Amino acid sequence: MNPSHQTPQPGALLPGSTLGVLGGGQLGRMFALAAHRLGFRVAVYSDDAAPPASLVVDRHVRAPYDDLDQVAKFAASVDAVTFEFENVPTATAQAATRHAPVRPSGDLLHMTQHRLREKRGLRRLGLPVADFAEISSPSDFEGAAAAIPGKGIMKTAAWGYDGKGQRRLANADEIEPAWRELGEQPTVLEAIVPFEREISVVGARGVDGEIALYEPFENLHENQILDTTLWPARVSAATRAAAHEITRTLLDGMAVVGVLCIEMFVLPSGELIVNEIAPRPHNSGHLTIDAHVASQFEQQARAVAGLPLGAVDAVAPAAAMVNLLGDLWQNGEPDWAAALREPGVRLHLYGKAEARPGRKMGHLTVMGDSDAVAERAQRVRSLLPR
Ligand code: AMP
Repeated sequence: MNPSHQTPQPGALLPGSTLGVLGGGQLGRMFALAAHRLGFRVAVYSDDAAPPASLVVDRHVRAPYDDLDQVAKFAASVDAVTFEFENVPTATAQAATRHAPVRPSGDLLHMTQHRLREKRGLRRLGLPVADFAEISSPSDFEGAAAAIPGKGIMKTAAWGYDGKGQRRLANADEIEPAWRELGEQPTVLEAIVPFEREISVVGARGVDGEIALYEPFENLHENQILDTTLWPARVSAATRAAAHEITRTLLDGMAVVGVLCIEMFVLPSGELIVNEIAPRPHNSGHLTIDAHVASQFEQQARAVAGLPLGAVDAVAPAAAMVNLLGDLWQNGEPDWAAALREPGVRLHLYGKAEARPGRKMGHLTVMGDSDAVAERAQRVRSLLPR
């Protein structure tokens, strides 16, 4: 689906303006690279000394996220603010909003920072989510057991990512021990969804309400961390259309200006259940850098600047991305030459100094004619460890 091309909004930020990013990880880094190509300057705000984004931006401010004076100063020094991870405190987004447009708004950030708020927000918009029960204290155990008697997955309501803060439950007897193990904090107990596959849609919405949606990505997880993304997802046209409709409803319903990703489960019937929202570009959309006319990061830059969105067409019939986790470094620096020798393989490394197991260090993208690209990408990755 291509966006309609329109003239920039009055007040659009033109190349040469400075876009500010809260957060300095790989998503900020890839955003900065895309924004630079369009001629923007990029400033990043992070509490780290040398986060991945800081190595490729015009300016890096190192300060704590809860130092609202520094946040205000940063926002006043740029033309618009965006963020690259959702755990930016709400007060930080609010402090920035007083000095520059924050896109997407703090409302979307607030909703996606907490699984209960997110599920309630999705339900309010009429979007399908898994059956769930809230557990804030032991008095909720009985109700939760009645609501989700069988297999479940307990997730902390706040600050979860990549399967962190989660426990799988065989049945309701395990509710109490799981809740204690997770630190006796507010959690959501979800029914296990018997999905056939997992997909995601990355969508962008401009200041004028223009929407651009990529065709769905298909995601394979290992240990609850994204391992491989295949594009296009192997789903029917009806499922694809339904996934787009869900994304459109959320983008319009929250009046998003920016990019978001919705992760969904596909049931054997083709029906969809929304799992999670990321209020920013997403790991599953990284292959758009190589495989699509405008990448998810370019869309973010365009949306944040108030410019028309880019085309979401692909430049190849199929593409796959595999993550490169720190585990590949177990016996030393991976054999990069082995991957670089492979024709058409695109290597992306995030400039992280320390490789830890499970840490996302980079990714590889491969393009081709069919879904065999996923296997090829995995095979190339298997050449890397020493
Ligand atoms: P999350 O952190 O919520 O994205 O969960 C990480 C992964 O765990 C998902 O990508 C799924 O593979 C799996 N998962 C999460 N919730 C459920 C569920 N309700 N039913 C089945 N699998 C799930």
